[in-house]
Amino acid sequence: MSADFDLICIGGGSGGIASARRAAEYGAKVAVVEAQRLGGTCVNVGCVPKKLFWYAANVAESLYNADKYGFAVSGEQPEFNWGQFKKDRDAYINRLNDIYTNNLEKSNVTLIRGHARFIDPNTISVGEKTYTAKHFIIATGGRPFVQPTLEGREHAITSDDFFALETQPKRMLIAGGGYVACEVSGVMQALGSQIDLVVRQPRVLKSLDEDITTTLDNAMQEQGINRHYGQTITRIEKISDGYCVYLSGGQSIETDCVLLATGRIPNTDDIGLETIHLERKENGIIPVDAYQNTNIANIYAIGDVTGQVDLTPVAIAAGRKLVARLFNDQPDAKLDMDNIPTVLFTHPPIGSVGYTEQQAQAEFGESVKVYKAQFTPMARTFSHHKPKTLMKLICKGKEERVIGIQMIGDGVDEMLQGFAVAVKMGAAKADFDDTVAIHPTSSEELVTLR
Ligand SMILES: Cc1cc2nc3c(=O)[nH]c(=O)nc-3n(C[C@H](O)[C@H](O)[C@H](O)COP(=O)(O)OP(=O)(O)OC[C@H]3O[C@@H](n4cnc5c(N)ncnc54)[C@H](O)[C@@H]3O)c2cc1C
Repeated sequence: MSADFDLICIGGGSGGIASARRAAEYGAKVAVVEAQRLGGTCVNVGCVPKKLFWYAANVAESLYNADKYGFAVSGEQPEFNWGQFKKDRDAYINRLNDIYTNNLEKSNVTLIRGHARFIDPNTISVGEKTYTAKHFIIATGGRPFVQPTLEGREHAITSDDFFALETQPKRMLIAGGGYVACEVSGVMQALGSQIDLVVRQPRVLKSLDEDITTTLDNAMQEQGINRHYGQTITRIEKISDGYCVYLSGGQSIETDCVLLATGRIPNTDDIGLETIHLERKENGIIPVDAYQNTNIANIYAIGDVTGQVDLTPVAIAAGRKLVARLFNDQPDAKLDMDNIPTVLFTHPPIGSVGYTEQQAQAEFGESVKVYKAQFTPMARTFSHHKPKTLMKLICKGKEERVIGIQMIGDGVDEMLQGFAVAVKMGAAKADFDDTVAIHPTSSEELVTLR
C-alpha cells in the first residue's frame, strides 16, 4: 500500500515549515503536523516578540538620551504603555501565524492540526486519525526547563509566560546566565523595571569570549541591573507585596515577578519514540549525524531537538539541506555547522562568529594572534550611559586567517552578517586591511585594527 505522504514534518516551527515548503517545491507530497500555533518558538515565544521588546527598549533609551542631543525634554519621561504594546505585538504575531498558514496552502503542504505520536516508523497518530509517510522529520523544538525540586517554583514564570504578561512588573528577578536571561534583563531595565539577575556561574554567557562578557557586565552595571553571580535560588515565597526569593548566598530579595530562564529541554518525551525504538539521550536530545539522520533509516531530526545549535536559521538551513538530499538529488547535501554567526540582543548587542580567543588559544596555542579595539562609540558621546564597544579579530597562523570575530556594542547586530561571509570564505587579516573603511562608523574599526 502506498503511503499518504512522501514526507511528514512533525512540528510547524522554524525547521518543520521550511523543510515542508522546500520539499513540496521539489514535488514531494508533504504534510506538517502542528499541535499549537504555527511558527513555533521563534514566532510565538522567541525571536519575534523578543526582538520587538528590544526595539521598544531602544526607543526608551533614545528618549532617555534625547536631552543630550538638544531636545528640550521637560518633566517625566513618556510612560511606556505595556498593555498597548502587548496588544500590537500580539496582533503582529497573529498576522504572522496567518501568513504561515497561507504559505503552507500556497505551497500545497497539508496542515494537520494536533499532537503527533509515532505508532510505527511509517505511521503517526494525530487524535483519532493515523497518517503514513515514507519519510518523517522530527522538528518538535523545545520548551523552558524549570528545576522540579525548586521550592516555590509555582510562583515563578518562564520565558513563554513572560511574553503573556499583561502588566509590567516594577521589580523583576531573573534567574539564568544564558542569552534569554541577559536579553530580558537588558530590555526590562531599559523599559523602567528594576532587575535583579541571579547567575549560578561566576559570569554570564560562559561560552562567549571572556572580554565580551566582562564588557556586558560593565554595561549592565551602568544600566542599573543588580547582578548576583555564583548564586542560585533556594526558595521562592509568596508575600503580601509580591515574592521573596532566597539565594544560596544567604541574601533574600523582594520582587514582583520571578522569571526562571534556566535552560530549555527538547519536546521528545511524548511523541512515541520508545514505541519505535528511536534513540534519545538522557536529556531528551535526539542524536543525529551530519546529515540529520537518526538511528531509524526514514526518520530525521532537525532544530532544537537535536541539540546542535539552537537558532532559527540553523533549523531552517538544516531542514532545507536535508530535503534537498531526499527529494532533489543532492546526495551530499548537509549543513556546515562551522562559523555560524549569532547575535545576542543584549544592551548593547553582542555579535559572534567562529572562535573566541579562549577557544582559539586552547586549540591552536601560540599561532593565534588577537587584534582588538575598545572605545566609546560616537553616538554615545551624547548619552547618559556610555557602554563601550569592543571588537576582536581572532587570527591564526602566519597568513593570519580570521577564524573568529567577537564584538559587543551598538550596531554590531547588523554589522556581523557581512563580516561572517568574509570569515566563512577564509579571509585573512590582510583582506580586512585592504578594505577601505566607511567613516564615521563603528564597523570601520574592524578593517583598521592594528
Ligand atoms: C526567548 C527566546 C528567544 C529566542 N531568540 C532567538 C533569536 O533571536 N534568534 C534565533 O535564531 N533564535 C532564537 N531563539 C531560538 C529559536 O526560537 C529556536 O532555535 C527555533 O525556534 C527552533 O526551531 P525548531 O523548528 O527546532 O522548533 P520550534 O520553532 O520550537 O517548533 C517546534 C514546533 O513543534 C510543535 N510540536 C511539538 N511537539 C509536537 C507534536 N508531538 N506534534 C505536533 N507538533 C508538535 C510545537 O508546538 C512547535 O510549534 C529564541 C528562543 C527563545 C526561547
